[in-house]
Amino acid sequence: MEELRSIIRDIPDFPKKGIVFKDITTLLADGKSFHRMIDLIAHRYIGQKIDKIVGVEARGFLLGSALAYKLGVGIVLVRKPGKLPYKTLKKTYDLEYGTDTLEIHEDAFQPGERVLIADDLLATGGTVTAVVELVEELGADLVECAFLAELDFLKGRDRLPENKVFSLLHF
Ligand code: AMP
Repeated sequence: MEELRSIIRDIPDFPKKGIVFKDITTLLADGKSFHRMIDLIAHRYIGQKIDKIVGVEARGFLLGSALAYKLGVGIVLVRKPGKLPYKTLKKTYDLEYGTDTLEIHEDAFQPGERVLIADDLLATGGTVTAVVELVEELGADLVECAFLAELDFLKGRDRLPENKVFSLLHF
């Protein structure tokens, strides 16, 4: 696990001053590490009833599609505004400065489908909270939110439903 952790690169002051950006492209580009990351996360869910993965644009698509393939389930996309072609449900949420919006197709789930949300990193939790709301408003059941990594000091998990967060790595 320490090997996976150490392959993630810190980029100071990106995208703005004071943020240390966790650059996972170094892990994604290393075949062995990518494979191991997906296997370790998928292991937690093998044997559980999961109907769909929800991948969050953009790095969540990479994690989400590999997990969906491994678990043999479909993937639903949560995207930035204006990218999804069919009717969408939208959620606007607060960022440190300003707001952002995410969309999902309104027919993404059958009622009661069990859904695993996947994203690369849990920071403040604002993004994934909006995704949880989209999933629940469409009548699906949240199994868990799965992340490659979590920035523990930001306490993002405190904003999410209790016992519904799993992160492979912690910083
Ligand atoms: P948040 O809504 O604060 O939990 O931020 C979540 C999204 O922003 C994640 O999908 C990450 O891709 C990205 N993000 C936020 N902070 C960082 C960081 N320090 N390093 C890399 N990605 C980040």
